[in-house]
Amino acid sequence: MTSWSNWAGNVTASPDAIEHPGSTDEVVALVRAHPRVKAVGAGHSFTPIAQPEGVQLRLDRMDRVLSADTRTGLVRVQAGISLHDLNRRLTSLGLALPNLGDVDPQSVAGATSTGTHGTGARLFGIAKAVAGIQLVTADGEVLEIGPDHELFDAARVGLGALGIVTEVTLQCVPSFLLHAREEPMALSDVISGLDALVDGNDHFEFYFFPHTDKALTKRNNRVPDGTTRAPLPRWRHALDDELLSNTVYEQVQRLSTRKPSLIPRINALSGSLLGAREYTDVSHEVFISPRRVRFRESEFALPRAAAADAIAEMQRWYARTDQYVSFPVEVRFTAADDIWMSTGYERDNVYIAVHQYHRTDPAEYFAAMQDIFVAHEGRPHWGKMHTLGPDHFRAVYPRFDDFVAVRDRLDPERRFGNAYLRQVLGS
Ligand SMILES: Cc1cc2nc3c(=O)[nH]c(=O)nc-3n(C[C@H](O)[C@H](O)[C@H](O)COP(=O)(O)OP(=O)(O)OC[C@H]3O[C@@H](n4cnc5c(N)ncnc54)[C@H](O)[C@@H]3O)c2cc1C
Repeated sequence: MTSWSNWAGNVTASPDAIEHPGSTDEVVALVRAHPRVKAVGAGHSFTPIAQPEGVQLRLDRMDRVLSADTRTGLVRVQAGISLHDLNRRLTSLGLALPNLGDVDPQSVAGATSTGTHGTGARLFGIAKAVAGIQLVTADGEVLEIGPDHELFDAARVGLGALGIVTEVTLQCVPSFLLHAREEPMALSDVISGLDALVDGNDHFEFYFFPHTDKALTKRNNRVPDGTTRAPLPRWRHALDDELLSNTVYEQVQRLSTRKPSLIPRINALSGSLLGAREYTDVSHEVFISPRRVRFRESEFALPRAAAADAIAEMQRWYARTDQYVSFPVEVRFTAADDIWMSTGYERDNVYIAVHQYHRTDPAEYFAAMQDIFVAHEGRPHWGKMHTLGPDHFRAVYPRFDDFVAVRDRLDPERRFGNAYLRQVLGS
């Protein structure tokens, strides 16, 4: 009996078989041999977007860097390489991805297929760095999709619906150091100074603690060439990022689950304990943090101008609900892009992400937040929990019907289909 579960443990499956192809030819053979196939990356989506209904393809053997041009920054990789391995390979080549999210176990194909993003008002999600895709379609054809190909804008964030991505070309940038400045602030001060904070830093984000006015701000800025690294001392990394953010945090979450009424006081204490810190390090060392406490997450992109109103509505909900929320809320920003199914399509966004400990049922909390976000034309992250369907997506994605038409053409028999795609695309 084969079985699979995502990272959060809320999506499971028993695929007919699990295959580990080692090349594009092997992927073609598997697609031709089986009526239903689904590729999975690191299983880091909270939605059932990667749930297989036939054979599961794990591209963990397709993890090589195929070519790298350090002059142009174009790097060709096999689609199963993890961001973790890629970041290290790029650093050794003097290159980097221009922006990253919070963690790095995801595969390149998985991260780009769902529109994975970090923060930066003048920057984009990872899929915007895609300069070419090799895609195996339902009839076993191998398409090379570059910027001039008619499928380029559909395929960069393809939701796993168009075919199996076997290779990806990424437009990388010269490697760079970031100066990180983390500092607690009152949430009300963050909101009143938001535009200056967002526009005045290369990468600005903040977390706020429900039931309190406490926030933790993070400003990451590129430093001039020639600046030397000044990474966090190992003891500080071990204390803040391992002990407080993971080991102690797990115990705090367990206590919160047993005694939810303590949560407002625990959140106030957490918000006060987090001290200011500054360091300078290689970009991916600054972007990426370990996340060992399991949680469930829902995240929506809203027009950036809606940030203050949406957060005020969230605060009013926290004040009136009998639910206690122990996890901080994460708030990030990106610039508009041109990818049809990207949350950033033609819109500068604020992203608001809500979390709940994995042993606590998040349904009521996430439903209340979804109502707030939908009222602000929210677009949910494709890999994070929501309950929306095609009517909503048609209203918030101008190219939704074009994407559906491309999928009808490439996969008329829904060989890459699953329940999640039926929910969001309508069939
Ligand atoms: C702890 C944690 C932190 C996270 N932090 C962030 C963050 O900071 N920013 C953010 O935006 N998101 C974040 N996410 C969400 C995550 O980046 C996305 O859900 C991403 O899709 C996961 O990548 P994966 O490799 O695990 O893909 P999976 O979840 O395994 O798959 C995602 C989709 O990609 C498809 N896919 C995978 N490989 C292929 C392929 N070769 N060809 C075609 N389709 C394929 C799958 O079929 C599925 O549809 C986080 C998730 C977790 C659990």
